[in-house]
Amino acid sequence: MFIEIDATKCMGHGRCYAVAPDLLTDDDEGFVAERGQRWEVPADLLDQAQEAVDACPEGAIAVSSAAPVDA
Ligand code: SF4
Repeated sequence: MFIEIDATKCMGHGRCYAVAPDLLTDDDEGFVAERGQRWEVPADLLDQAQEAVDACPEGAIAVSSAAPVDA
């Protein structure tokens, strides 16, 4: 499974890295540092990935089985 964070939707609420501390980190301004990225989630962190999806009030985080597509 892959996780993707839409940089245009992230407003820096900080809920995602609070519930998924092993998967996501914060930057100096309180935004999730991995915004704008898409990467494969280790199997043991899938629960945290889904919690991050559910926690984000902006709907900025998505988890899917689709592999990254080069633009
Ligand atoms: S919870 Fe959503 S809006 Fe807040 S930092 Fe995480 S991705 Fe951004």
